[in-house]
Amino acid sequence: MANEKYYCPDCLNELEEESGCGSVSYFCNTCKKLVSRSKMLSKNERTEGKEKE
Ligand SMILES: [Zn+2]
Repeated sequence: MANEKYYCPDCLNELEEESGCGSVSYFCNTCKKLVSRSKMLSKNERTEGKEKE
């Protein structure tokens, strides 16, 4: 599978993927914090969240 993009649940900006020491983490440059895999949004989830407004 190709690299999927993930988005911050708070600001909906794209998360930066940081890999090191065998593990991957996702960081939001806008919120300046790490986002856990359970909280980050996929592209589809991000779109749906926006339309719910
Ligand atoms: Zn954010």
